[in-house]
Amino acid sequence: MSYRVLARKYRPQNLEQLVGQENLAQSLKNAFENDRVPHAILLHGIRGVGKTTTARIIAKSLNCLADGTLKQPQVTPCDICVSCQGILSDRHMDVVEIDAASHTGVDDMRELTESSRYKAVQGRYKIFIIDEVHMLSKSAFNALLKTLEEPPLHVKFIFATTEIKKIPDTILSRCMRFDLSVMQPAKIIKHLQDILEKESVLAEADALAMIARAADGSMRDALSITDQAIMLSGSTTVSVTIVEAMLGLSSRDALFGIFESIFKGNIEQAIQSLHTIYDNGGDPLLITQDLIHILYWVICLKNVPSLSKDIAWPEADRQKGQQLATSLPTSVLLQSWDLMQKSHDDVRNSHQPSQALDIALMRLAFVKDVLANPSAVSGGQNVQSSSVTSSVSRASMPQTFEAMADLLLYAKEGLLHGHVLHDVHLISYAPGHLVCGLSGRAPKNFGKLLKAACERITKQPWNIELRQDNSTPTIVQAKAIERENLRQQALDHPLIKEILHVFPDAKVTIN
Ligand SMILES: [Zn+2]
Repeated sequence: MSYRVLARKYRPQNLEQLVGQENLAQSLKNAFENDRVPHAILLHGIRGVGKTTTARIIAKSLNCLADGTLKQPQVTPCDICVSCQGILSDRHMDVVEIDAASHTGVDDMRELTESSRYKAVQGRYKIFIIDEVHMLSKSAFNALLKTLEEPPLHVKFIFATTEIKKIPDTILSRCMRFDLSVMQPAKIIKHLQDILEKESVLAEADALAMIARAADGSMRDALSITDQAIMLSGSTTVSVTIVEAMLGLSSRDALFGIFESIFKGNIEQAIQSLHTIYDNGGDPLLITQDLIHILYWVICLKNVPSLSKDIAWPEADRQKGQQLATSLPTSVLLQSWDLMQKSHDDVRNSHQPSQALDIALMRLAFVKDVLANPSAVSGGQNVQSSSVTSSVSRASMPQTFEAMADLLLYAKEGLLHGHVLHDVHLISYAPGHLVCGLSGRAPKNFGKLLKAACERITKQPWNIELRQDNSTPTIVQAKAIERENLRQQALDHPLIKEILHVFPDAKVTIN
């Protein structure tokens, strides 16, 4: 038994079966029911979303002989009448399919418009399907235009294109245009699951999610990748390992590992992992793209936490992504994304792409260090604990007011630490000397308590001067202001704008 490729075997045969094109299907259904099918239809969309398939469904519906009268298009063509069978086997006398990529000339169009003058032989309409119509030459378009201006009643044109901008306005204005949607990963996965069940082929859920993502919105690509994966897997399961190997994907584990190393400050380990991927034949440009994609995913997760339950993404991606998202502030993630975007061009244009990527990762580690510096940004837990350790080990006297607050926490003076964060309005600070205003919530003897605690911890004399001046923000207020500023910065970032556009319910938080 010969193997029929999935895309052919499961090609949708009517509007019901068109996956992911609900709007288009509904409009066409209305047109068929009311017998108001325009004489020229333009189907626009990326490769592999079903343009040619739709064109054939329209042709079958228009010419189906199911009711024997040919008076009305059939919403669901029968697929068994002479006309349907003719179209199914590419042998219908009145349905002409032309690939404009190989028939770009004016003579081809003249021939076509000439034949359009004769009535349909077999069906109700003469139907011309012109694929990749944007490839026609200017003179060919002009020849076509004459027929489009005064179309014979028995003629229908169906054009398909991936590049709407290359089609002259004079043609566009005479067509009813339909935009086919890009396939969402969840829809691709669902469709693949349905098909594989019919084929009795087992597949890992994460493997299908990877295929859906690699297909990049094209159902045809998804099906052809699945075809290959089935062949490679023999009679076993279509697994993540097979799909990764087949798509030349670097192992996701290794890529997540690189980020984990960088953000932990272990650049050496990150570069080592990267070189292992090179050694296994990894392409620097593809690795860069994968790394950018991972950052995009982590930023999405950070802002749209519900995505961690979205099955369109591999389970492993969701878990590892979540870890990175919770451990890194949005500012670091956004800067990293910007930097990797720029590095992408460097890697592409470099004579030594692998070296360019090495340098990009080192830069990333650098950016992360600069951003994680508490004076530059109010960071998360990592930053706080590291500043505590350094202030204790390097100097007995805290060098900044914030370090002094940290020191209280470290010395288990939790109550005093809380008052310092919430109630102290700093006027000036030098090690051993604090001038500040105090909110009413602080205890009456706060100055004495703080002095005693600081002297006990640092074993040095302290001078705490209290004044009636609460004009500066407390540490907590300052952090709130800083977070709001960062949030505003983040909201202005093009990537975040894009995310908010795709996920309008997302909330941007800085932590
Ligand atoms: Zn039929």
